[in-house]
Amino acid sequence: MMRLPWFRYEAPHSVVEAAHILAGEGPDAMLIAGGTDLLPNMKRRQQVPRTLVSLRHVEAMKKVANGSGLTLGGGLTLTQLVRLDAVREQHRALWQAASQVATVHLRNMGTLGGNLCLDTRCSYYNQNYEWRKAIDFCLKKDGETCWVATASKRCVAVSSTDCAPALMALGARLCLVSSAAEREVSLADFYRNDGIDYLARRPDEILTEVMLPDSASWKSSYWKLRRRGAFDFPVLGVAAAAKMAPDGTVEQARIALGAVSSYPFLTRAGEFLAGKRLTDDVIAEAGAAAASRAKPMDNADFDVYWRKHVVSEFVAYALREVRGDDMSDARKRIGKQVL
Ligand SMILES: Cc1cc2nc3c(=O)[nH]c(=O)nc-3n(C[C@H](O)[C@H](O)[C@H](O)COP(=O)(O)OP(=O)(O)OC[C@H]3O[C@@H](n4cnc5c(N)ncnc54)[C@H](O)[C@@H]3O)c2cc1C
Ligand code: SF4
Repeated sequence: MMRLPWFRYEAPHSVVEAAHILAGEGPDAMLIAGGTDLLPNMKRRQQVPRTLVSLRHVEAMKKVANGSGLTLGGGLTLTQLVRLDAVREQHRALWQAASQVATVHLRNMGTLGGNLCLDTRCSYYNQNYEWRKAIDFCLKKDGETCWVATASKRCVAVSSTDCAPALMALGARLCLVSSAAEREVSLADFYRNDGIDYLARRPDEILTEVMLPDSASWKSSYWKLRRRGAFDFPVLGVAAAAKMAPDGTVEQARIALGAVSSYPFLTRAGEFLAGKRLTDDVIAEAGAAAASRAKPMDNADFDVYWRKHVVSEFVAYALREVRGDDMSDARKRIGKQVL
């Protein structure tokens, strides 16, 4: 049985108090929300914070405000998120992404903030301590070599959050609060293509809110590739969102990819769609453009070449759903997912 290492536990009731503790403890402290990512990592000694600062009792981070846009507290659980009518009806891609994270139990505990700050994953890293010790560890933790790309000085572990690509396509911004300052960043600028240093977040910052712009005339969709339909991390996540003119022309679009790099990212395929109708040819071209940016590595499930190959098909699924096609058969087929 894997046991947790010893740690000190702090349970503040406000963002100010949490930020103050975090600043005082320095880099040895980490935030914990639902703990569904962090606690297994601690058991495997991948992350060994001396102090955990819990966000569980910070009620201000569980608020929802629906005005000209939608503001979601970083402390909302994924279950609370998928129960919101505003998310299900106005921000479909986010609803589809959050509903497919892990299992019911994990969604009951796991939060939006934790999902966006999820550690990157790799088949050489997500192993217990003894397993990793047997290969002399790796660059990401305790070792010196990357076993996926041995000549690489950079860790290429995979960003595996479902909600990030969906929120990126929807144009989300984040509020980050520390004891010294508060700042707003676009979600697209929050990630770095580096498996170790994957967030542009300072260790003393708390992700308090996710802000979504007004979604009138926008349609969106999220498609996830994984082995088991019941639960699994994504090995590909595709999110598409488009603002449609009354005549069916795309006014503005964003297409984001997840799980094919160390960060989720927006592709140029969204810009390509502006001013065009979503015909089959245009969709195929957008899919090919997006796929050219995908660089999956051989450190997750499925054959790496096949994972790259199916990106264009998943982009086509997402865009056809945005166009208004009935995609329920494809959803059912992909929901079963064993290939
Ligand atoms: C079996 C299993 C399957 C899973 N499947 C999926 C999946 O399919 N898709 C998916 O996306 N995830 C999956 N997960 C990961 C995880 O359950 C979710 O991503 C969840 O939303 C993480 O949220 P949390 O609150 O539990 O995060 P925690 O574990 O509490 O924290 C995760 C990280 O975020 C930081 N953090 C948490 N909250 C904040 C905040 N407000 N501000 C700044 N930093 C913060 C923590 O310090 C930590 O580094 C799975 C996990 C397991 C165990
Ligand atoms: S990509 Fe390389 S350095 Fe990063 S976790 Fe995997 S083996 Fe380790």
